[in-house]
Amino acid sequence: MEGQSPDMTEATGIVGEFFSLKEGTDADLLTMQCGDFYEFFGEDAELVSEELDLKVSQKSSHGSSYPMAGVPIDDLTPYLKALVERGYRVAVADQYETDSGHAREVVRVVTPGTLLETSDADAQYMAAVVDGSEVAGASGDGYGLAFADVTTGRFLVADATDADEALTELYRFDPVEVLPGPEVRTDDELLEKLRERVDATLTLHETEAFAPKRAAHAVRDQFGAETVDRLSVGEPTLAAAGAVLSYVEETGAGVLASMTRIQAHHGDDHVTLDATTQRNLELTETMQGERDGSLFATIDHTETSAGGRLLKEWLQRPRRSLETLEERQTGVAALSTAALARDEIQDRLGDAYDLARLASKASHGSADARDLVAVRETLAVLPAVAETIDSTPELADSALSGIVDRPDRAAARELRETLAEAVVEDPPSTVTQGELLQQGYDDELDEVIERHEEVREWLDTLDEREKRQYGLSHVTVDRNKTDGYYIQVGKSAADGVPDHYEQIKTLKNSKRFTTEELEEKEREILRLEDRRGDLEYELFEELRDEVAERAELLQDVGRALATIDALASLATHAAENRWVRPELHRGDRLAIEQGRHPVVEQTTEFVPNDVRMDEERGFLVVTGPNMSGKSTYMRQVACIVLLAQIGSFVPAEAAEVGVVDGIFTRVGALDELAQGRSTFMVEMSELSNILHTATEESLVVLDEVGRGTATYDGISIAWAATEYLHNEVRAKTLFATHYHELTGLAENLPRVANVHVAADERDGEVTFLRTVRDGPTDRSYGVHVADLAGVPDPVVDRSREVLERLREEKAIEAKGGASSEPVQAVFDLGSGTMQTEPRDGREAATASTDGGPAGTDSGGRSLDPEAEAVLEDLESIDVNTTPPIELVSKVQELQERLEE
Ligand code: ADP
Ligand code: MG
Repeated sequence: MEGQSPDMTEATGIVGEFFSLKEGTDADLLTMQCGDFYEFFGEDAELVSEELDLKVSQKSSHGSSYPMAGVPIDDLTPYLKALVERGYRVAVADQYETDSGHAREVVRVVTPGTLLETSDADAQYMAAVVDGSEVAGASGDGYGLAFADVTTGRFLVADATDADEALTELYRFDPVEVLPGPEVRTDDELLEKLRERVDATLTLHETEAFAPKRAAHAVRDQFGAETVDRLSVGEPTLAAAGAVLSYVEETGAGVLASMTRIQAHHGDDHVTLDATTQRNLELTETMQGERDGSLFATIDHTETSAGGRLLKEWLQRPRRSLETLEERQTGVAALSTAALARDEIQDRLGDAYDLARLASKASHGSADARDLVAVRETLAVLPAVAETIDSTPELADSALSGIVDRPDRAAARELRETLAEAVVEDPPSTVTQGELLQQGYDDELDEVIERHEEVREWLDTLDEREKRQYGLSHVTVDRNKTDGYYIQVGKSAADGVPDHYEQIKTLKNSKRFTTEELEEKEREILRLEDRRGDLEYELFEELRDEVAERAELLQDVGRALATIDALASLATHAAENRWVRPELHRGDRLAIEQGRHPVVEQTTEFVPNDVRMDEERGFLVVTGPNMSGKSTYMRQVACIVLLAQIGSFVPAEAAEVGVVDGIFTRVGALDELAQGRSTFMVEMSELSNILHTATEESLVVLDEVGRGTATYDGISIAWAATEYLHNEVRAKTLFATHYHELTGLAENLPRVANVHVAADERDGEVTFLRTVRDGPTDRSYGVHVADLAGVPDPVVDRSREVLERLREEKAIEAKGGASSEPVQAVFDLGSGTMQTEPRDGREAATASTDGGPAGTDSGGRSLDPEAEAVLEDLESIDVNTTPPIELVSKVQELQERLEE
């Protein structure tokens, strides 16, 4: 009946049981234990075999045949991992004994967010997002978010004011699985953005779990009512947290016990870092999506995976609190000078395992004896590290001693001692076959062990005794599955065995015998092995539960070690790269002397540069030819501020950093657009987001914004955005632009200043100096580059003339203040300067008396219709898409028309 798809509802026996279990779960796949295997049947078997290259066989059942694929019990984990990583949710049904034979039951649904068997060092967050603004009668509006990492027990919640903020947080935590709340499920726009930005499986968890009352109850139950009230987060956030808890419970990960602490991730103390900014600054991966070359990969010298996770978290969530940052700074400062002590600490950290993960495994009941040894060894790292800190005066005086004293050291020592007395030095990985526990740990066990060892000793020495007693040579005593224990005698000696030897097998060169006494000892040792296995497993489980109960302690110790590790990593990087401690303050001043880009300096002979911004100089227009280093300069400033706000030292000779409440970047570079990663619409909506959310205390970096559209369009947007940022938002801003026109703004807007990246040209070659200087660039590089490229002189000369003429045609007025004061000046594109008086001989726009902002072609100007038509034509040219040759001829044509 192969090839035919049998009706699964009619299947009976094992296959029938599989299909009925499958009906009862909403998982994508089911695997069911059958003896020593986990089996998939029917479509599941086919799918799994396709995905994972498993062999499919046919299982016949009552005249029908069903595809079947299986893996040995011990090999299930890697298959589960592979399936879950491909986005499947897999139900696991275990087999257990009943009075009437076997029964099977789904014990777990493994999903991306509840996979405990992860070997990845990264955090593995599961998130829930709830839209509270849609919930009628909800006390708090906005969005609610909850994040849980089942592998470490970490649990965080956050309020978000709107969908964008919710997305930003989701991007920051980068969850592997997201549970959208009931309203979010129907919000196509949000879902689409979520899919775009976060690589997570979306799971529809039962809507009742999101119900505010039920959810809040679950959260209070788990973390304690008082703690939860103190968090003072909104109702949607509690709903999200409750949904996560219920999902963790429902999927049977069994780690609720390790979720001991709920933390609110409060926006106020954190620096806003939207998804685009995190990507532009290449915090954890490069624009090409690679880890190498990211800021994190560059500064990460952590010894432990928990330390690495924490350092990454710091980068993704910079802080504003001077107290927190200065505390970290003292640690980094101390560790960067005390090099030997730092080495020693890092050496010791090298022995540490991931305590948070181990706590989670203990809670889930999957920790083995080796895991408990790992717990013990890691608990021992804490006092060792503390000792180094205490005995090194610089370190003892820093925040480090407080960090290692934060966990309950006495309780940690107690647990360590318990484990040391209980578990043997090098236990096996199976927990059911004994030899896990030390003698002296339990009286009853001791008796069993003693007797077991006695019998074993008797068996081990039997061959010698037999040889001596009966004068036999070539005697060995061994055991195997079929024969049990036996005495094996070489062929030559086999005839001389005593009468009570009973032959059980003849081999080519030897014979196997047994005796009554040996059989009796065999029975005894089997009994003892069983007893020892059972007893040890029982005791081991008790011990493991004891460890699980100490989950919070383990997390505390793990956190302390991770913090020391992260600080030591920052110190190592600072010492090796001559970074300095930035002076942090609450003011506007940002002063960086000889700053470098933290990543580019690793691979390039880097030319350092200064930055100076303050109350009077809050907006820098950065100009310079293509490839001169504008983008690098601005990113370097953003990275330095960001590093300062994680408590790190920074790549500079000296730095004063006024803490910011947010860092916003937008790169409008053409290549982004060309590579299809962005559209002009995206560029603009991100600009819009910046204009809406940045504050006076933010740092804004705009790189060629406006470039995604035609020139005049682009200039207009850049111009207006500059005015708005300067007058209304008042954020610290760096704006790199190839619109030379914008440099004129400095003359009129008080806080705008020009800087340019210098280039030198000699003998027809441009040398990039990479040095940033005050003032605007003084030339029009487009024409210059055309010249260098060998465009014939007449064309170059003519372009210069055309350019001059074009500039004279246009004049833009700058708006001065928030209160729409009268226009203060006119920017003249011809001279590149601001004019408060009309230029002689021309009817240029004057400061209009009615106070209204005059548009480009409005005001007192009158043009003849033909000139106007030329301008319109000019405006419609897209310089970004029109080939240069065509541009030149077009310009020529326009000029001819003008001359007429
Ligand atoms: P722009 O934005 O002006 O086009 P980029 O910032 O992209 O220029 O820089 C162009 C190249 O110059 C990059 O490869 C970068 O690594 C290098 N570069 C930029 N600034 C420096 C510097 N200060 N020292 C050394 N190399 C630099
Ligand atoms: Mg650039």
